[in-house]
Amino acid sequence: MQADSASHARGGLGLQFIEFAKRYGARFALRGVSLAIAPGECVALVGPNGSGKTTLLKAAALLIRPTAGRVQFCSASAKGTGPNTNDDSCVIKRYIGFVSHSTLLYDDLTAEENLVLFARLYGLDAPDDRARAALDPAGLAARHKDLVRNFSRGMRQRLAIARALLAGPKLLLLDEPSTGLDRSGHQWLGAALANLAAAGSTVLMSTHGAGQASACVTRAIRLLGGSIAEDSAVCGDPRAMLAAALAAHQEA
Ligand code: ADP
Repeated sequence: MQADSASHARGGLGLQFIEFAKRYGARFALRGVSLAIAPGECVALVGPNGSGKTTLLKAAALLIRPTAGRVQFCSASAKGTGPNTNDDSCVIKRYIGFVSHSTLLYDDLTAEENLVLFARLYGLDAPDDRARAALDPAGLAARHKDLVRNFSRGMRQRLAIARALLAGPKLLLLDEPSTGLDRSGHQWLGAALANLAAAGSTVLMSTHGAGQASACVTRAIRLLGGSIAEDSAVCGDPRAMLAAALAAHQEA
């Protein structure tokens, strides 16, 4: 299947966690979380270390098996251009971009080669052109021939974000995306998320509450001990929750 960013970028992918639990040994990382995120929402996950944010993102990326419960997806598209809940996980994953804590780049490839490889794996058209075009806004055009092993943390983060954006994801998952970014990196990320939001894509990201990435947030969810402690969609103001998360992070 050929996929291009224009077709992917129209409309978002919604998701629903149904009594989703994940246990590692004796410890529950998630305790029966039930949560519906509609296509096009931009959701910030906040909460202290160990509260389950990364585990929830990995569950949304279909990277972990639940101990109990499940996650399912729904498309905003009524015209059959998006996935539907009956698609298998391989099909669903094509519509998902994920920026994890560990950037999962190939150290022995250049920045450009990393993107070209990803574009080919995803069956995107014109992988070389697409990779080159993605490096410029990420501020990495001048370093496109450098091996990733020589990149700083912030440059790796930019490349990981550029890779996640490459296919025009219908659902973008970001684990603390501001990590290592400088001011211009924050601005680029904020603008990229605003573009995705305008195209109707869904965004779910963990955050400490700071940075331009938070500007397009429409909903905030606070996790505590693997459960949802607060959801602005039920009761609350996402801006106030982000401010409180930032204050708690700065105190810690
Ligand atoms: P957060 O992202 O909010 O910091 P995590 O989702 O990473 O939290 O972790 C939630 C809980 O699950 C923590 O208690 C953590 O120690 C545990 N956990 C996460 N991943 C693993 C793992 N691979 N093995 C064992 N325990 C894990």
